[in-house]
Amino acid sequence: MYEGSLQDLIDALGRLPGVGPKSAQRLAFHLLQTDSATVENLAKLLLEVKQRVKSCKTCGAVSETEMCNICSDNRRDLTIICVVEEAKDISSLEKTREFKGRYHVLGGVISPIDGIGPDQLRIKELMTRLSDSAITEVILATDPNLEGEATATYLARLIKPLDIKVSRLASGLPVGGDLEYADEVTLGRAFEGRRNVEN
Ligand SMILES: [Zn+2]
Repeated sequence: MYEGSLQDLIDALGRLPGVGPKSAQRLAFHLLQTDSATVENLAKLLLEVKQRVKSCKTCGAVSETEMCNICSDNRRDLTIICVVEEAKDISSLEKTREFKGRYHVLGGVISPIDGIGPDQLRIKELMTRLSDSAITEVILATDPNLEGEATATYLARLIKPLDIKVSRLASGLPVGGDLEYADEVTLGRAFEGRRNVEN
């Protein structure tokens, strides 16, 4: 449609999640009309975020330091770990203010169709953390869809020999849904009403 760098920008923006061809074009033209300083700042932030933001060595959450704010906070409950699929799920759960323990990010879910097995996820790291005798409960907060449920079942079986209580967020979460889109009240209730997993 367009020439050279403008078209390249539209194509690149169009590859971002949730951005269709029309939105990509709109964003590109918006940037074209924006003053240079603002665009330069945006470009700088894109590079900075890639350079600075890493994963927490302990839980896998995004962090600019070796250990994230939650893992290094002594006031958090050391006995409970909440297992989530993605680092972004943590902010949804934190907003509920129901959970005072620590997190563990799996980095996805078991999905044979996509070629993702247990070895591709941070399950080994989770089991290492669970070997610490201080931990008494694991909450499995994977999404309430097929892959999320299958991953929770897999983990529950794996954790069973460790004599640790395993619970799953209560129903009330939309089935087939994504934690990211659940509202705070629903998520908060799901924490309160979490049920034991018979593993
Ligand atoms: Zn952490």
